Amino acid sequence: MLNLIIFGAPGSGKGTQSAKLIDRYGLYHISTGEVLRDHIARNTPLGEIAAKYITKGHLIPDDLIIDLIRNVIDNEAKSAKGVVFDGFPRTIPQAEALKQLLAERDEGVHAVIGLEVPEEELIERMLNRGKETGRADDNLDTIKNRLDVYHNQTQPLREYYIGEGSYLAINGSGNVEEIFKTIAEGIENK
Ligand code: AMP
Repeated sequence: MLNLIIFGAPGSGKGTQSAKLIDRYGLYHISTGEVLRDHIARNTPLGEIAAKYITKGHLIPDDLIIDLIRNVIDNEAKSAKGVVFDGFPRTIPQAEALKQLLAERDEGVHAVIGLEVPEEELIERMLNRGKETGRADDNLDTIKNRLDVYHNQTQPLREYYIGEGSYLAINGSGNVEEIFKTIAEGIENK
């Protein structure tokens, strides 16, 4: 299986590049943020919990997210050619859990695509997305919290995956097609 993690700060282009990856390689796409927003829209019990964290820009507790991912791996993604994990993992315990879940199924992560974008550009992109889509957490206060959370809890994963030998550093600024070309070359040369 071609399992890929698309990694980067909020606003780094994970959703955009994931869409291109699933098109090119025929993979199953799981965006934990999208799944949670869908639960909120449907007023499910998970949605009720998730809303409290998302509106503050905080992370949902690891155990809830790991259960969600386990479920996807064993059901929707079971017969897929591979999975694009978008917005997951976001903490070291989530990364450890994913490693174990995949190892138990004789699988692993082929590459971690790290989209690296300067902070001013991230903020500008999220503010624009907020205007265009009305996404509730794309406002300046929540964006600042999300970036703090990213630096404190998620960025350590960069070193973690460099240590595992799976991290591909990608310059995430500029033209979407050019960025995708670099990603595809990185995946195919790994
Ligand atoms: P995203 O669409 O990936 O930017 O995620 C939006 C929000 O959903 C985040 O700010 C978190 O509150 C929550 N979220 C998404 N993925 C995770 C995750 N892997 N762990 C914890 N919270 C998450």
